[in-house]
Amino acid sequence: MNWKVELAEIEKKKRFFLEGEFEQDGIDLDIGYCKFLEPVKVKMVVAKTKDGFTVGGYVRTVIEHPCDRCLEPTRVEINGVIEALYLPESMRKNVKEEKLESLKNIIYYHETEFDLSERIIEAIVVAVPDKVLCSPDCKGLCPYCGVNLNEEPDHRCDKIPVVDSRFEILEKLKKNLESKEV
Ligand SMILES: [Zn+2]
Ligand SMILES: [Zn+2]
Repeated sequence: MNWKVELAEIEKKKRFFLEGEFEQDGIDLDIGYCKFLEPVKVKMVVAKTKDGFTVGGYVRTVIEHPCDRCLEPTRVEINGVIEALYLPESMRKNVKEEKLESLKNIIYYHETEFDLSERIIEAIVVAVPDKVLCSPDCKGLCPYCGVNLNEEPDHRCDKIPVVDSRFEILEKLKKNLESKEV
């Protein structure tokens, strides 16, 4: 589906709905490219305002995101909210600071055509939780060898670095003392 709208269309219709699927395989996030596991369903309403227009709506899908602890691919449900106010570039200086602060997502425009898929991507990115876990009690990876501790809960690592040398000195001293005692 095409998410492009023309300013002339907005001015003519005043208010209209856009509904459909966002046709992309996945999305680029900080951690890398994440696949969509379900169709990305989008509902949007575009409404003309006195000076510009607003875009509101929601986006629903499921993405495949690595677990923050064990890195296994994890299904993450996305319920994103689309919220933006479009104002003409000429308004940039006219809007009072206080008003700017109270309004969240303001986009100043000078073009006459808008690609609203940018708002869809934005809503998905914002909706990704800060912490993604494959399960609340994910045990993560062994810090020494990287074994997945969910798969090997009884893992006893043989890659643990050698005991601190200070310990060895103490051990030697202890042995020396013991040998003297005998
Ligand atoms: Zn995990
Ligand atoms: Zn290990």
